[in-house]
Amino acid sequence: MTDAGVLIVGASQAGAQLAGSLREFGATCPITLVGAEEHLPYQRPPLSKAFLSGQVDADSLLLRSADYYADQDIAVVTGEWIDRIDLDATGGCATSASGRTFDFDRLALTVGGTPRRLPVPGADLGNVFYLRDLADATALRASLDAAERVVVVGGGFVGLEAAAVANSLGKDVVVVEALDRLMARAVAPVVSQFYREAHERRGVRVLLDTGVVGLTGTSTVASVDLSDGTSLPADIVLVGIGLVAHTGLAEQLGLEVSSGGIVIDAHARTSRPGVVAAGDCTVLRSHEGLLRIESVANAIAQGRAAAATLAGIDDPLSAVPWFWSDQGEIKLQIAGLSVGYDDVVVRGEPDSEQFSALYYAADQLIAIDSVNTPRDYMAVRKILEKGGSVPRGAAADLEVQLKSFLPARV
Ligand SMILES: Cc1cc2nc3c(=O)[nH]c(=O)nc-3n(C[C@H](O)[C@H](O)[C@H](O)COP(=O)(O)OP(=O)(O)OC[C@H]3O[C@@H](n4cnc5c(N)ncnc54)[C@H](O)[C@@H]3O)c2cc1C
Repeated sequence: MTDAGVLIVGASQAGAQLAGSLREFGATCPITLVGAEEHLPYQRPPLSKAFLSGQVDADSLLLRSADYYADQDIAVVTGEWIDRIDLDATGGCATSASGRTFDFDRLALTVGGTPRRLPVPGADLGNVFYLRDLADATALRASLDAAERVVVVGGGFVGLEAAAVANSLGKDVVVVEALDRLMARAVAPVVSQFYREAHERRGVRVLLDTGVVGLTGTSTVASVDLSDGTSLPADIVLVGIGLVAHTGLAEQLGLEVSSGGIVIDAHARTSRPGVVAAGDCTVLRSHEGLLRIESVANAIAQGRAAAATLAGIDDPLSAVPWFWSDQGEIKLQIAGLSVGYDDVVVRGEPDSEQFSALYYAADQLIAIDSVNTPRDYMAVRKILEKGGSVPRGAAADLEVQLKSFLPARV
């Protein structure tokens, strides 16, 4: 490498991990982490949980202190949106919207994404919120205080977490989901059904198979018009209908972009030598096809893999994916990938609010969703990491400890 070093565009979970891992792998080159937000990299998960409910403040969200970056000689540049990147034979130069330039030898894109907008009339009214960054969460938190009726559009993780917080604050909450079940992209029907009932038991209304056709109000939203011709009164609307990855820079560079993300391999390499990508902006080419995984664990694992690649170390992605979602006091923990499952075994009683769903493909255990059962989750995560399984016939038997199936050797 020359003196320009590594430029990481996007200063959040994946970018911060990539920078730190580069130093851990022994890289001595200059590292610049540039991001559009005004903050040092911070954790997003609390934005729909403890930060939204007022239990923690913004300072506690930082992933690392300013001292850490200084000690590691990582230059963090905040408040700069990169809108153009030029590559040449030895590296390239990125230019921000304000005109600052950043030379580099190697480039990493960790640019995440932006919330999918609600494509209906009235969506630009006041008090219509999205929840992706600290600014969004701060604005939502401030408006939530004065609101009585909250409509959440989208029954995915972020929407349901925020719905649980609003409900716990005594708001009248309705979740509107266009599909016939909650979190349909991620979990089996039995888990969706459990969550519907659990939220309803706590007083949240859940409307499935229901689209939003418009929002009405004068300057701020007053009601949500539904596909069945009815409407819901609303002081606040929170839209949580997915993420659109930032692929603009990748497209500009001619990188392969497919299924809504920058295509990478297990080494976090893009289609262009010298350019890696990690986190929510990517789709991973794998045996299961192109995988889009939006999670902290994925951002960490891919950030690390990208750092290894830039440092010339052969250390591809190998970790079993994991994820969590706290919806009120109900903790969902997921290990493995359930894509392509052909059977689900339920362990425990969903009505007790403590159970697991174990996913199988051709008799092999491939994933688990655990609800308030961390012991099952940890056992299965370790079993999957060691390439083991749990016999399908034994999975539902609460007398059988799942950890007894942990392979003795890798
Ligand atoms: C409310 C909420 C709750 C969540 N809860 C959980 C959870 O419970 N468990 C879990 O596993 N995951 C959760 N996630 C997901 C997790 O936070 C993300 O998967 C993770 O943040 C992805 O990190 P990333 O670095 O890839 O992308 P991001 O965090 O999106 O960061 C990308 C950064 O790049 C910057 N950027 C983009 N383009 C440019 C550009 N051109 N120039 C400069 N900067 C740019 C953006 O401003 C942003 O700061 C949650 C996410 C949200 C929003």
